[in-house]
Amino acid sequence: SSWWRSVEPAAKDPILGVTEAFLADPTPTKVNVGVGAYRDDNGKPVVLECVREAERRIAGNKNMEYLPMGGSLKMIEETVKLAYGEDSDLIKDKRIAAVQALSGTGACRLFADFQKRFCPDSQVYIPVPTWSNHHNIWRDAHVPQRTYHYYHPESRGLDFSALMDDIKNAPNGSLFLLHACAHNPTGVDPTEEQWREISYQFKVKGHLAFFDMAYQGFASGDTERDAKSIRIFLEDGHLIGCAQSYAKNMGLYGQRVGCLSVVCEDEKQAIAVKSQLQQLARPMYSNPPVHGALIVSTILDDPDLKKLWLKEVKGMADRIIGMRTALRENLEKLGSPLSWEHITKQIGMFCFSGMTPEQVDRLTSEFHIYLTRNGRISMAGITTGNVGYLANAIHEVTK
Ligand code: PLP
Repeated sequence: SSWWRSVEPAAKDPILGVTEAFLADPTPTKVNVGVGAYRDDNGKPVVLECVREAERRIAGNKNMEYLPMGGSLKMIEETVKLAYGEDSDLIKDKRIAAVQALSGTGACRLFADFQKRFCPDSQVYIPVPTWSNHHNIWRDAHVPQRTYHYYHPESRGLDFSALMDDIKNAPNGSLFLLHACAHNPTGVDPTEEQWREISYQFKVKGHLAFFDMAYQGFASGDTERDAKSIRIFLEDGHLIGCAQSYAKNMGLYGQRVGCLSVVCEDEKQAIAVKSQLQQLARPMYSNPPVHGALIVSTILDDPDLKKLWLKEVKGMADRIIGMRTALRENLEKLGSPLSWEHITKQIGMFCFSGMTPEQVDRLTSEFHIYLTRNGRISMAGITTGNVGYLANAIHEVTK
């Protein structure tokens, strides 16, 4: 029959496509700095020691029953503390509606669907550039998208004045998607002072901030410090939304464990909002997966395991920071006349190198180095073993 005759192959995902091409390349010296997943100094995926220990503790000791529709209550309780602070009044006053979500992506999508259902005429303001999937998520939720200035190509830093203008010029009561820390793909975050100004202006305009926090702990190595943007907004009394993910900071990529939270005016509203979030999840996936949530709650509920986790997050962040220095020093040693200061100034998993799509194409075709054409380098893919090779190749295509 003719049911699927009009179906054309979908466009390749710009990020996942890079990995496919990398895997298909037989060259032994190939380098993958495309994928946003942490690797150790041997280029190998990592399972954190705290996760291994949690798995040992829960092995054989659990049933396979469904979680509640909103997910694991213990996991959610610990997760909101990470975002909102251990002593948050919002938690005490039960003003946060939170549900377990299918990692950060699922949290964003659930929020976008919630936004569409309850604020059907609203739009979302998305930074330029952003993680490419943000556009897909809000598109599929049928929420119209606007963009706001963020990155300044010349300085390879933040275009703060254009960002503030866009906030001021947006209609009052607009909804903005903000990266809480370690902005993807640019590695450029506002300073604390700039966050304060942004929060102030949001207050003036009555805007709502939705924070996507996919990298808490990955930016500075300190989960509290990385939550500063959110804490500033909370100090100013904003009602915010927040997507959290354990993909990167606990290395639980494939477990799909995260959390969506929405700050409400009071407990009654929070109960209503949570019930509606669950209602949205029910026809999509009914309830979230149990195993990852159990790993997370086992770790965060035990002070020693939590301490170990925080140490391991810092270890990952520090290795990346070290690779930033190494890459920059290597480029400078090669005599590159260009400025590579932004490599060490930017933070988080990525470096927005400033290379053109043509230069990236040469890196791939001549040096078997794989990354997205926007010039984004995943710092986690760099090792002491390949940083010299990478620097040399970058130097060759940019001189
Ligand atoms: N948000 C941002 C900004 C990201 O970079 C990512 C992952 O790359 C995510 C969300 C979602 O990741 P996950 O769904 O694996 O938690």
